[in-house]
Order: sequence, then structure tokens, then C-alpha cells
Amino acid sequence: MYDFIPDNPYILLTPGPLSTSKGVRNALLRDWCTWDADYNEEIVQNIRRRLVALATAKTQDYTAVLMQGSGSFSVEAALGGAIPQDGKLLILTNGAYGKRMVQIAKALKINYIEYSLPETEAPNAEAVSTLLDQNQDITHIALVHCETTTGILNPLDELADVVKQHGQILIVDAMSSFGGIPIELDTLGIDFLISSSNKCIQGVPGFAFVIAKREELQKCKGNARSLCLDLYDQWQEMDKTGKWRYTSPTHIVRAFYQALDELEAEGGIAARYKRYCENHQTLVAGMSKLGFKALLPHKLQSPIITSFLYPTEDFDFVSFYREVKARGFVLYPGKISQADTFRIGNIGEVYPEDIVRLLEVVEEVGV
Ligand SMILES: *Cc1c(COP(=O)(O)O)cnc(C)c1O
Repeated sequence: MYDFIPDNPYILLTPGPLSTSKGVRNALLRDWCTWDADYNEEIVQNIRRRLVALATAKTQDYTAVLMQGSGSFSVEAALGGAIPQDGKLLILTNGAYGKRMVQIAKALKINYIEYSLPETEAPNAEAVSTLLDQNQDITHIALVHCETTTGILNPLDELADVVKQHGQILIVDAMSSFGGIPIELDTLGIDFLISSSNKCIQGVPGFAFVIAKREELQKCKGNARSLCLDLYDQWQEMDKTGKWRYTSPTHIVRAFYQALDELEAEGGIAARYKRYCENHQTLVAGMSKLGFKALLPHKLQSPIITSFLYPTEDFDFVSFYREVKARGFVLYPGKISQADTFRIGNIGEVYPEDIVRLLEVVEEVGV
């Protein structure tokens, strides 16, 4: 009766949710019971192990905790779970997602300081080092890897190095980069890394996850400022049998399992990173020919999402967006105060040939 599965009317060139494969969407189409091994062991525990394996070679030292909700819920669970009552957090901000961590710290009454930069500047490792020297009471540092607000790629290696030298706990919002850019947690000394089902792993939205160093997660008992977002308790329960404390988003979890299969089939994170880089390079070169300049210099730019300046003062983004969408591509508005911009994502089930078609559409629509 319901054998007609509608296909996507357009490609989402947005930073999440993003376009997913037919395989991932098909995997949503059956129900699961949450008390048998066919779900808990074969799906949930399997996903947890595979996430750890994607994040580090030292798999025994890390674990993955899955959490209901969108990415921000897991950022909140990680901050609220990792920082003890007498801890102090340094938050590096250069965009909306760094600012969201500040909002979370405020809401949870976490003692914090903010190192704030303009949206087009990356935090400087030396400045962070000085800050840590001047504020000896800081215990935890939180930063965003790819700040999706602009597409800027913050220098994770250098920043992680400074944090490690100072011996503090490092929390990384790698929401929009994990799965799309290689990151090795153990080498970098990352203690908590947060990402979600609907970004570079290319699943559908509905849950997020924290990949944590066991030794540090072990210390988090009783820290949580929330019952539902208690990272430690969720870990304890999930570790026993693969059960989520409260209703598990079963269909989404099963689709995520399929997305992990597809990531492996593509050749893993290295291959996906290469594809996203190709998407990005094709996009920037083509847009430049059509008169669109990227906001960020090449060396600050991630392959995840690109911000473009309005080509003219009277550029009408709303009608441009509408015309491009009618031809099969959804763009994304800009989000920064310093300049008029819009964004185009390179992530998801999107290939260089799609970007080539997009460029034809942009040329046809004109400015
Ligand atoms: C998408 C994203 C988030 C989470 O946003 P949600 O809307 O809660 O899923 C957090 N940080 C970054 C860098 C992101 O790109």
C-alpha cells in the first residue's frame, strides 16, 4: 500500500540536517524493540564501538555515549557532566556555536571565562597559553573545531597542544567536522568530543554523541546539572546492555548504523574528507568565476561549509535563494554581523558533479 518512497526534491547544501543517501533513508523503514540483543547489542553497542574506532587507534581508552536530542543537547550534557562544581571553564568563541557554549555555561551556572574573537579570526594558541598562565584556576577548555557560523577551521592541533602542556581537560565541539575531517583524539589529547547523527556521518537528525576518555568520564559521577542530560548516568546504563535510559530513537539509530556502513564503503574518513575538499574546491573556483568572493582567506577555510560575500550591494539573496531552490539546491543564509554573506555547504550526500550542476544553476539564475 505504501510502496512509494518519495525522493528528495532538492539537495540540501546546508550544514545539517543535510542530504542523506537512499540507503540511509530506507533504513528508517522498520520498527525495533529496545529490549533485545538484535537492537541493543547488534546496533547500539556496535555503533558505540565503531564511533570510538573512527576517533582513535587507542580504542580501549575511550568510550562513546549516545544521547537523545540534537547536537546542542550533547554539548550541554558534556559541559554539564564534565565540569565539577568547583571547576572553571575557558570557552574560546569566534561564532554562534562558541557563543552557545557560553549560553549553556550561564544556564547551568558553570564558572567560566570567555576568550572571544571576531568571526573571521581564529583563536591564537599563544594567546590561549598566556590566558591559562594568568588564570591558574581554569580546569577545562571548550572550543569549536569547525565554527559552522562562517566555515572557519580553528587550529585544533595547536590549541590542543597548549591545553595538554597546561594539563587541563579539553572539550571539543566537533559537531560539523567529525567524520568529515580526520581527528585523532588520543594524539591530540582530547578528553571529550561531541558530534551528532546528522552531520558528516550523514545520518538523519535525532541524537548526538560524546566520545570520551574513560578515565575522565569516570570522574564525572554526580556532576550533571540535569537528570535527562546526565552523561555519566547515560554511559553507565548504556555500557551494561546497550539500553538508553529513556526512549531510544530507534529508527534514527538504525539509519545511523547504515550511514556508518556507507562511510566505511566510501573508504572511511580520509576518503570522505577528500570528497568534501573536492566539493569545496570546485565550488570556490566556480563561484569565483561567477563573481562571488569567499569571506575567509583560504588558510582559515574548512572544507565543510563556505561563506560567500554578496556580489553587489543590491544583491537580493531571498530571490536568489528561491530561484536556486526551484532548480534543485537549497542554500543557507549567512549568520554574521560584519558582512552580508550567505553559505553553501559541501557535506552530506553531495558529490563534485552536484557542485558542477549547482554552478550551472547559479550562472543561469544570475545576480
Ligand atoms: C550543528 C552544530 C551544532 C549543534 O546544533 P544543533 O542545531 O543543536 O544540532 C553545534 N556546534 C556546531 C559547530 C554545529 O555545526
